[in-house]
This record gives sequence, structure tokens and C-alpha cells, in this order.
Amino acid sequence: MLEMLRTKIAAGERLVRSDGEAVLTTMPLTELGAMANRERFRRHPAREVTYVIDSNPNYTNVCNIDCVFCAFYRHEDEPGAYTHAVDEVLEQIGWAVEQGATTALLQGGVNPALPFEYYLDVVRETVARFPTLTPHFWSAVEIQGMAEVSGKSIREVLEALWDAGQRTIPGGGAEVLASRVRKKLGIKKGGPEAWLDVHAAAHEVGFWTTATIMYGSIETPTEIVEHLDRMRALQDQSLTLNEATRADQPGAFTAFIPWSFKPGNTPLEKIRPIPEGPATYLRVIAASRLYLDNVDHIQASWFSEGKKTGQVALHWGADDFGGTLFEESVHAEAEFVNTVTVAEIRELIREAGFAPVQRTTLYEHLPETPLETIAQHAPRRAGHGAF
Ligand code: SF4
Repeated sequence: MLEMLRTKIAAGERLVRSDGEAVLTTMPLTELGAMANRERFRRHPAREVTYVIDSNPNYTNVCNIDCVFCAFYRHEDEPGAYTHAVDEVLEQIGWAVEQGATTALLQGGVNPALPFEYYLDVVRETVARFPTLTPHFWSAVEIQGMAEVSGKSIREVLEALWDAGQRTIPGGGAEVLASRVRKKLGIKKGGPEAWLDVHAAAHEVGFWTTATIMYGSIETPTEIVEHLDRMRALQDQSLTLNEATRADQPGAFTAFIPWSFKPGNTPLEKIRPIPEGPATYLRVIAASRLYLDNVDHIQASWFSEGKKTGQVALHWGADDFGGTLFEESVHAEAEFVNTVTVAEIRELIREAGFAPVQRTTLYEHLPETPLETIAQHAPRRAGHGAF
């Protein structure tokens, strides 16, 4: 079985689900790294690793979805619940721009008290006030929430966000796209189709989106492969859409970003108290590179897995090191704190053996921002992956 798989990978053939399972469970780890690394250099021959200067502010932690893996949310009447006004959100984004951010990943809970106009105002004002920044806002479940409060369809919500000036959507909230897992982790979020339908509609409207997986909770390797398979199928579908709307991007998913479940302060901590370690992370990164043959970029997360593991992942198939994440509180609520400066992220990439290349949200290369032009404030909160 492994011999056939080696031949298949060497020939660049598309993997099937049983191949994906073998990659996750039985292929020797170092051999797997070498295979994924070869595939990475076949796609991206330059010895370069990209990163983005970004921030992940949150606008509300009020949420009515009750995911059992989440330490971030509060109910409306609970101590610590907050919702920022539009101007406060813009102040957070303005602060990020001062630090040199070219991307803001804005996410929050699903707060039924917020009208749809709130989201549109945040997008419109961000585009008007901060033209150098890309608004990478709202994950799939928040878009579902907007549809509910406004009485619009998902497609109508997405078209209104597009008209307000938004062009990219983050891929958070997928967890593992297998019915059993989604049902147990957050039944109100809906099954795999809920996440997939939002992204499929977004691709049809013209958005670029990212794709993620949060593994290490209750899923099996078979379910991880099911997740990769569904992502690959949706990317195939996006390739049939009008390419004129996407310039040089080969598919509507720009990148795939794995990270592991962090149990701290979550209801799931009682049954899953120990997070997955680096070996599983490297397997998931390598499996993502080998299975997702139609997704260009695989992102290593210095933040969620630690700087050293992030550096090693650059040799296991990843070609991107995520973002600087000046502000973040989702992982911080799970008592998982990690920070980096722009200078340090460049140094970490060099230390791993690559030339750092600054990029946009859409993975276009940028000239390096001189450090002296960036305000050197301490991070507000710890960082997260650039989803
Ligand atoms: S993960 Fe998102 S949707 Fe789920 S409870 Fe937390 S904030 Fe709400």
C-alpha cells in the first residue's frame, strides 16, 4: 500500500481518500516531510516564504451559537460580554494600519442584536478611511447570522458586502467538515454544508476566500480526509467559474490553514484536555499540501503551534508563514498567548532557510515595508493565524 502511494505521489497523481488516510497515519513522518517539501518546491520553486502584516481585532464576543470548543464567546447578559460601536472598530483598524498592517481579519461572535447595516458600515468606512488595507472580514457563520437578522439570502448578503467594497472572506469556523464532528462541536452552526454553501456562494459572487481546519478535538483521521476532500471539490468547482473575475488566481480558495484545537477554558477541555503535538501538526500540513493539489498556498502558523514548529512546517509543505497578528483575543481566551514583531517574523523565516517576502491578503508580493515607518507599539493582545 505505501509503495503504491509513494509511486503515486512521485508521479504527481491526485490522491484518493484512502491515500490521505495513509499519509495521516502510516507514512513515516520524515519521509512524508520530504515528499510534501518536493511538492511545495514543484509549485513554488523560489526559496521564499511569504508573510502578511495584519491584525485580528474582534468587534463582539456576544454569541448565541454555543460551540463547545470555544473559550471566546459570552452570552449577552454575562460578565465580560462586549460589542464595539462602528467607530470603535474603526479605531482598532486604524491602530493596525499605524503598525503597518495591510490586512485586518475582523471576526466576532454571532450577535443577533447587531443589524445588517452595522456590518455594511464597518466595511464601507474601512474602505473609505484606510485604502491601503484589505478588509478580510466575517467568517461563514457570521454571514449566516447576517442573513438571519436581515431576512436576506446568503447570496444577497454577500452581494451587499461586495457592493460595500469587500473582496475577501476568511475561512474560519469550518472546524472539521464531517457531519458527526460539526454536530458535536456546535449543532447550531449547521452541518458541513452550512460552511461550504457560504463559501460556494461567495466564490460565485467573485470573492476570494481562505479555507481552514481546526483538528485535534474529536475527529478521526478519516474525517480529516473527508474535510480535505470537500475543500478540494469546492476548489474544483470554483475553477469552473468565470476566471475573469479572479485575474491570475487559479482558484477561489487562496490558501489552506490548519491549526489545532486549544482546550483551555472550553467545555470540551473536560474530555479533550491535551492539545495535539507537533508531529500531528506536521502530518496535517503535509497531507494538506499533497491532497489539496488545486490550492496554491499552505500556511504554517507560528502562532497556534509555536514559532519552532511553524519553522519546521516550512519544510513539511507550507510556503507561507501567516501574519503578524498585532491584536487577537480568540486564542488568548483559551490562555494561549504568542506574539511576534515584523522584524522577528522576517528573522524566523530567514532562520528556517528562506527569504521572507511580504505579501497582500491575496498573496501578491509587496516591497518590504521599512521597519522605521511602522509604529512600534506593543501588541494589544496575542496573535492568531492569518485566516
Ligand atoms: S466559535 Fe464562533 S460561533 Fe462558535 S461560539 Fe465561538 S464565537 Fe460563537
